[in-house]
Amino acid sequence: MTTVFTGQVRPLAADCEDLVEAFAVDCGRIIALGTAAELASQFPDAEHIALDGWVMPGLIEAHGHPGYSSILLSDLVVDIRPVTIPDASGVVATLRAAVAASDGKAVFANGWDALLQRGLPDPDINWLDELAGDTPLVVIHNSGHSAYFNLAAARAAGVDSTTPDPAGARFGHVETGALDGVAVEEAAVERIVAPLLQSAQQHLPELFVAHLRDLASRGITTVSDLSWNPDLNPLVQGLLTKGALPVRLRWYEMSRPGGTAAARGDDNELFRQIGVKTWSDGSPWIGNIATSFPYLDTKATRALGLEPHHVGTANYTTEQLLSIAETYAAGGWQLSCHTHGDRAIESTLDVYERIIARHSLTDHRFRLEHCGAMTAAQFTRAASLGVTVSLFVDHITYWGEVLVDDLFGPEHGGAWADAGAAFAAGHRATFHNDGWVTPNEPFRNMAVAETRTTRSGYRMPGGTPVTRAQALAAQTTNAAWQLFSEHEVGALAPGLFADFIVVDRDPVTVDAAALITTVVRATYLAGTRVA
Ligand SMILES: [Zn+2]
Repeated sequence: MTTVFTGQVRPLAADCEDLVEAFAVDCGRIIALGTAAELASQFPDAEHIALDGWVMPGLIEAHGHPGYSSILLSDLVVDIRPVTIPDASGVVATLRAAVAASDGKAVFANGWDALLQRGLPDPDINWLDELAGDTPLVVIHNSGHSAYFNLAAARAAGVDSTTPDPAGARFGHVETGALDGVAVEEAAVERIVAPLLQSAQQHLPELFVAHLRDLASRGITTVSDLSWNPDLNPLVQGLLTKGALPVRLRWYEMSRPGGTAAARGDDNELFRQIGVKTWSDGSPWIGNIATSFPYLDTKATRALGLEPHHVGTANYTTEQLLSIAETYAAGGWQLSCHTHGDRAIESTLDVYERIIARHSLTDHRFRLEHCGAMTAAQFTRAASLGVTVSLFVDHITYWGEVLVDDLFGPEHGGAWADAGAAFAAGHRATFHNDGWVTPNEPFRNMAVAETRTTRSGYRMPGGTPVTRAQALAAQTTNAAWQLFSEHEVGALAPGLFADFIVVDRDPVTVDAAALITTVVRATYLAGTRVA
């Protein structure tokens, strides 16, 4: 059965200015575009659906974490993110109230950010013990790169002062050797929140679907998970069988030192593994990104516990990173690496260059994630290697002033997440919101990459704005390509799936301020309305 959809359609397939009136869909795929009259005569028996508004390809989140987000953004976790609670006193009061109401059951809170919630206390084990006593309390940093816990939470997670540090991560200790209540980097954080993940298991089916539906309502039709938990595979398979998966999922296995690459699975168009993820450094907000330049010495960096002239270190040496990545690359997987600092980026490019040469790879599309302090020269080097970049431009929205005034100064902080430099170097760059770290607002990403202006109107002193065509591509065609899915999604063109959204304004011509508040009226996946 063919359906002809009509509206003001921006296919974004070739020239972003192209405007068509109608497109025909059969078996979930677009089979033709043209005027309403042309398609009516070409498909006389088709069903007709008039779409109320502007129509564009469904948006693609190239770097998300829907699996963990469905737990961290659920009622099982106390929401203390700076987008929810802007000030320190509110955060502390919320934690106290949560502990008081918990009846001794473990409390998990997510979203601590001392740089935005100014005046937060040092969240060491003494403070947390005082606050929560025998109630296990874990407070996850908004970046996800650290977590703070009390003694009861350590006990509940089976962590003590003798627990060895997981590879690429660590538990902090005081001079006596006792735990200081801080878990740094993914593997340590995961260990301390294990009881939460355990208790969330029974609720996951509803939580996961609810989260995916929320993404669909925001216009996202494909989401990538950069820290996928394969325990969720049976749940997704069940949804697939029922035809109840509201967005396409692309996922990345988390690398483990000494780990082995999974075999390639079915090439399912709704759900499949794309690659393997590694973390080469940490978060700018906790002081552990690997840069060639020091953090500024400011009140804010002192409050983070950073010494003057502090420089963060990478999670792995280049040789360690190479040995982790090599196994997965040899298995034929796309590699993806979290990198913020320019030194981490250089080291990761060194690793990629060696692997690409060793395996004579030509279409690997190895990825760099976030790219906060990536320089113009590094964008050029990456492009020449066929390495692709996904930028966390929304950092500017929330932390723009922090980057310049508190952490890195106008030269390094001002040019943060320089999407314009990426496009100038020839990249098919993408933008992302990184799961729960900032709200999933792809239109805001596009706008901020164009204006480089924070939520309070501060204009970043460095970096290059992108054009609207580049911004739209970053969340559509480029993202499809980055996820090896350009033969399926990313534009409205014959042969591609009819994944599209109906919005209330023209995404090509509205100004950046108006783009941010674009309203998604409807979302379609393979021609079927899902939101
Ligand atoms: Zn991420």
